[in-house]
Amino acid sequence: MSKKIAIIGAVILLIIPFQSVIGLNQDIYTTNDNQIIIQNTDLDVISMINKINYSILFGYLEKIVSFGVRHVGSENCRNAAEYINEEFQQLGLESCIDSWKYPKYKCQNVIATYNGTDPTSDAVFVLTAHLDTIGNSVGANDDGSGVAALLTIANIFSNYNFNHTVKFVIVSGHEVGTYGSFDYAKKAYFRDENIIAHINVDMVGNSTCGNIIQAWTPERSYRLYYFTEEISYKYEKYIDIEVQLTAHYPMDSQSFVDYGYDAISFIQPKVFDYPIHTPEDSLDKINYPYFENVTKLVIALTAEFANKPIDVQVRFVTPKEGHAYLFNRPILKLLGLNLHRSRIRGITYLIGRTIAKINITTEEEIITVSYSIDGNTDYYAIFTESPYDWKIQKPIMSNFRLIGKHKLGVHVCTSTGKTAYDEMDFYALTPI
Ligand SMILES: [Zn+2]
Repeated sequence: MSKKIAIIGAVILLIIPFQSVIGLNQDIYTTNDNQIIIQNTDLDVISMINKINYSILFGYLEKIVSFGVRHVGSENCRNAAEYINEEFQQLGLESCIDSWKYPKYKCQNVIATYNGTDPTSDAVFVLTAHLDTIGNSVGANDDGSGVAALLTIANIFSNYNFNHTVKFVIVSGHEVGTYGSFDYAKKAYFRDENIIAHINVDMVGNSTCGNIIQAWTPERSYRLYYFTEEISYKYEKYIDIEVQLTAHYPMDSQSFVDYGYDAISFIQPKVFDYPIHTPEDSLDKINYPYFENVTKLVIALTAEFANKPIDVQVRFVTPKEGHAYLFNRPILKLLGLNLHRSRIRGITYLIGRTIAKINITTEEEIITVSYSIDGNTDYYAIFTESPYDWKIQKPIMSNFRLIGKHKLGVHVCTSTGKTAYDEMDFYALTPI
């Protein structure tokens, strides 16, 4: 009997330190080239979901609201950012305050990084929520709820490992024109950050329509929505929320779309029924069962995404976002002014026909690469062999050359039927 206990004890001692490092149910396997790959099991994701509760969400939200009205550039906003930065650091994330400055406003973002464990992956999954408020509002729901949700997720994540890097970016300047997210997305693009998806969480603490969360999704990112829907069904026993696909509205996710990334914004339904931007947006308005369910969906989605193998990915290399081209030569890197509503942030100007070049990441055989203009392709824009370069020009079936603003797209299809897509806006200054 005592021998048995000793053996069991030894086994437990061997297992416990290992588990505390890698998370309770994580499978680890080694690939041919000796890389360690982490695979969270469904049980892991369920345990992450189950760790989300009232007290952790309320704790963060109460603290954020305690800083008071947090106008862009204010001391309150700065103090709240410093608290959040320290909190991320205490959770073991690499976190820093990143200041930004534009002609009318200056403020700061908090950028917290949870590094992935797969050394071959440069993929980054970005979550944002905004810290600033407007009017006489302490912004409990708008967007204290989003910030508290992200802190909660980071807190729970710090006990697990993921293959890809996850970044928690608390932005500011949202209420005066999404400055902080614009600043982050622009800098990320120019340092070549491979953002595989961006999720924005803004106002998720109150619903007058039951357990529904809206996903404001640009067309290019529908696949992100379908993945979210898949996750909500997969964990429906643990997450009581219905995801609704909704037309895109240019919130902070627009900043990422403008720099060529896929993005989605989660927001409660009938948002304009809520007393936004008033003193009534206070702690007592938060409906915790609803808030918990949305946060559970976001943690499950992030955990699944952060370990998801990337079967195929395509990205435009040329032309670059935010540049002006004379034929194939980039002649000007644009400053990137935050003209938010004009929709010209990160836009690319073309004089003459520029050759589009792409970068494809896949281990599978590529069957076709097809380019499109405003959603239409033609015979001469479909390739079956490398190099897949294409001179950007009007589709052959169209009578008129292109001028003004258009959308360039590229689809890649592999032998097993996997697909990838990238797109960018450009402005033709001469007919092409
Ligand atoms: Zn907001």
